Amino acid sequence: MNHSRKPAVCRPIIIGMNKPQVEEFLTPLRSCRLCPRRCGVDRTAGQTGFCRAGALPRVALASLHHWEEPCISGTRGSGTVFFSRCNLACVFCQNRSISQQDRGADIPVDRLAAIFLEQQQRGAHNLNLVTPTPYVPQIIAALALARDSGFHLPVVYNTAAYDSLETIEALRGWVDIYLPDLKYCDETLAVRYSRAPGYFSHAIRSISAMIQQVGDCVFDEEGLLRQGIIIRHLALPGQAEDSRRILRAIRENFGPDIWFSLMNQYTPQPGMGDYQELERPLSAAEYDGLIDFALSLGLENGFIQEGGTASESFIPFFNLDGVIPGGNPP
Ligand code: SF4
Repeated sequence: MNHSRKPAVCRPIIIGMNKPQVEEFLTPLRSCRLCPRRCGVDRTAGQTGFCRAGALPRVALASLHHWEEPCISGTRGSGTVFFSRCNLACVFCQNRSISQQDRGADIPVDRLAAIFLEQQQRGAHNLNLVTPTPYVPQIIAALALARDSGFHLPVVYNTAAYDSLETIEALRGWVDIYLPDLKYCDETLAVRYSRAPGYFSHAIRSISAMIQQVGDCVFDEEGLLRQGIIIRHLALPGQAEDSRRILRAIRENFGPDIWFSLMNQYTPQPGMGDYQELERPLSAAEYDGLIDFALSLGLENGFIQEGGTASESFIPFFNLDGVIPGGNPP
């Protein structure tokens, strides 16, 4: 008798999909090049690369989020789905319990599709995929399943912009709104703070592809974003010069009408060790100076954050709510 055993990780992710669909979605995971690290690992065989993501999507929280830009959060909230693990390694990450300590639950794709539908049933204005890059094939498969069951919300791809061009192209027709965070211009900072070589050039290329794909921002009659892109930048303490370079790059690469979001919500994390320059919040003077600089460049389609927003209260509690029905922290 000829016994053949498929890798155990494959079985739970094929529910609801026929064989060609399964093959199509597994293929990018067999030699992973979803991001510029291009690890080449076979995630369907249990191998992992820099981000440690496996074949199953790992999710830490599915909730209604009210702290995004007003055109994303609206009145009812954005349907955030927080994915665990990350292809960056930011030393200041406020979500480090899920991005670096891997808190979350592995779920099959059909459960991910159900989560998307549950966000719609909850009244979310959109589906907001947070740190989705390592799971793009699984997300597309889940969106296909969800759409078959009536899912129709705008899909937001909330990324650090360290995505490969193939990944952005694969998302054509699946994503309506891109929310890329353009973090650094300076290569030394990108490597020191996020271990992300070539970050700026990769991110600019990815963002250009996103703009080419979804075009100008389209708002509905309630002011909610239905399609388009908002480029975010989280200003770091002591790095105003790099932030100015980012703003200049946004203006030069994408013109004065691009929508951007200048964020001051940087929250110092405990135990920064070798990165003591990051152990304080952004000052009001630093932030105001950047706002003035953006205006001086003619960038006027912008969102700013008012008041002191650096607060632990903006960090979600990753307790697996909405991930597994009745789920509890592992
Ligand atoms: S998504 Fe993860 S495994 Fe794939 S190339 Fe990027 S870091 Fe490597």
